[in-house]
Amino acid sequence: MPMREPSASRMPVVFIGHGNPMNALRDTPFTRKLRQMGQGLPRPKAILCISAHWMTEGVWVTGMEQPRTIHDFGGFPRALFAMNYPASGDPVLAQFIRDMITTPEIHIDTGTWGLDHGSWSILHHMYPAADIPVVQLSLDRAQPPEFHFKLGQALRKLRDEGVLVIGSGNIVHNLRQISFDDHAAPFDWAVAFDAWVKERIESRDFPALIHHATQSEAGQLSIPTPDHWYPLLYILGAAEAADTLRFDYEGIENASISMRCLTFGG
Ligand code: ZN
Repeated sequence: MPMREPSASRMPVVFIGHGNPMNALRDTPFTRKLRQMGQGLPRPKAILCISAHWMTEGVWVTGMEQPRTIHDFGGFPRALFAMNYPASGDPVLAQFIRDMITTPEIHIDTGTWGLDHGSWSILHHMYPAADIPVVQLSLDRAQPPEFHFKLGQALRKLRDEGVLVIGSGNIVHNLRQISFDDHAAPFDWAVAFDAWVKERIESRDFPALIHHATQSEAGQLSIPTPDHWYPLLYILGAAEAADTLRFDYEGIENASISMRCLTFGG
């Protein structure tokens, strides 16, 4: 028995470059694109979000009825801390994921996490009514890139269950080199790495992205820590050869953050 009525069509999978938490409050070409994406994608029954901001020991999925909005940042205006994204959780989906994936073991979190800004800062624009249940999946910090890609492959089945799988991170994410001038010119290495990743995705050369991303100097500068990179690997894993590919948005913000967004199968 499927968990839900199968949807008429297979759901796409999406990667969002989420960038500055302040984007949650802004009206920019990027946030307008998120709104368009929310309106243009098939309406999901639930969303599974893999956010850069939930790294754990082992793999966890949120299983509470009503996940809290987590303001996991500091030094931002009060208005950002006042934001609330009241989407419900989906304990049935959490259980379904746990049952569907036997290796690795998926743990259900009923009280620790909720929705961090990697999820709500983009969902606030994509689905402003907050009327679609949202579940988050954590990143096991001890695991290598291939683990994250393979777990993405295991999540593919959710696409037939009406679940929209979203990875939320950034292809280039270097906070040490960041410029707080919103109009700062991007670093050459950021532009180069973002373009290299785009080409590898276009040619479906996923092994290069899994195994060789940090072999170049540009890659090391773009991925100084893996948290914002790993969500992309889940989306590459959940993609299939027959999926169309669309780059929904591109650009480098604050000199060292790639805002590239892409959709497979949508
Ligand atoms: Zn982030």
